[in-house]
Amino acid sequence: MSASLPIIRLRPREGRRVKAGAPWAFSNEIVMDAAAKALAPGSAVALADDKGTQIGVGYFNPRSLIAVRLLTPPGTDINKDLLAGRLRRAHRLRERLYDAPFYRLVHAEGDGLPGLVVDRFDSTLAVQVTTAGMECLTADLIAVLGDILSPACIILRNDTPARGLEGLESYVRVAMGTGARRVPVEENGVHYFADVESGQKSGWYFDQRDNRAFMAKLAQGARVLDAYCYTGGFGIAAAVAGAARVTCLDSSESALAFARAAAEANGVAPRCDFIKGDAFAQLERMGVEGARFDIVICDPPPFAPSRKDVEAGARAYRKLARLASALVAPGGFLLLASCSHNVLPERFAAECAMGLSRANREAALIRQAGTGPDHPVHPMLPETAYLKALVYSVA
Ligand code: SAH
Repeated sequence: MSASLPIIRLRPREGRRVKAGAPWAFSNEIVMDAAAKALAPGSAVALADDKGTQIGVGYFNPRSLIAVRLLTPPGTDINKDLLAGRLRRAHRLRERLYDAPFYRLVHAEGDGLPGLVVDRFDSTLAVQVTTAGMECLTADLIAVLGDILSPACIILRNDTPARGLEGLESYVRVAMGTGARRVPVEENGVHYFADVESGQKSGWYFDQRDNRAFMAKLAQGARVLDAYCYTGGFGIAAAVAGAARVTCLDSSESALAFARAAAEANGVAPRCDFIKGDAFAQLERMGVEGARFDIVICDPPPFAPSRKDVEAGARAYRKLARLASALVAPGGFLLLASCSHNVLPERFAAECAMGLSRANREAALIRQAGTGPDHPVHPMLPETAYLKALVYSVA
């Protein structure tokens, strides 16, 4: 029973957000006394205000800036049944949203499961655990996922840098079944492949699904440049939608190999080119050579992975907007995306606008979007909505 849980107390007048319903208490908001410091990372705790009134039950990590993450109301337990309930709810939502079993099944706090991300590739599940609390629940989690979905393979992609913030080691391990490096992905009726063992993130960026569909609708007959193409998400969708020519550009040879395989699987390889190189250098070169595209897509890695990188990151987004917009043919379209949660939407839009203006391009913003609905956001944590995707119609 939770009555026996250790209690973590908020300091007087601290914890305004958690008291209002947010699921986080920060280390500077709680009484970090010797008893608290002695708790093992990931211990289940009850959080109380300074008067002793309980706020909720969650797990605690004395080493983490986000010290307490709440999962349930006071007096309840964190156990296998809770995990099963939350996973079933997450699964029901995705079944309702999508026709095919390819989606983000669990998106952390947005699904009431802080520290957990699960991407589903039909019968293969890629699981990412980012907190000590969720790490303690891993065995139950694997069992429950096995019960609900009977997957052929569960792979733990516990090699994200975020684990370092919680003092967790980095590893990749097959937790159920046998691993398969290359698994098929089906999205918007297009066939791709994901490298679930060693690809970036879980091997696939489900977050751009709706933005890929939007760009594909514009692609009939178009010359398309997909910079930072990774495994071909945007570019191959555009080719399948009837683009005249698609240029996929990435610095990673292995990502390009997956993009090529996707082009072949969809029968569009003859209309696709693949360039290995640094995007800034390549965009600059194309500009000098006078290359023009009807659609340019730029979905780079995070330019501001931490708070101290915000200014440098913002400058990089501006430069990218300038170089990319110079390549758009009159009447064409430009997608600029940022997955840096440290760069706020207003700032990103301002940098993109400045880049367009420096390239002397007139443009109108026709779409401002983020992730798809399989990346739900906890209503009290709007700042966790990290993805910004802006689409411009360029004069
Ligand atoms: N648009 C992709 C996701 C892009 S992820 C999709 O829809 O799935 C970011 C990609 O940028 C990665 O594939 C990475 O290899 C690539 N990348 C990182 N640095 C780069 C650089 N300097 N030049 C070109 N590509 C780069």
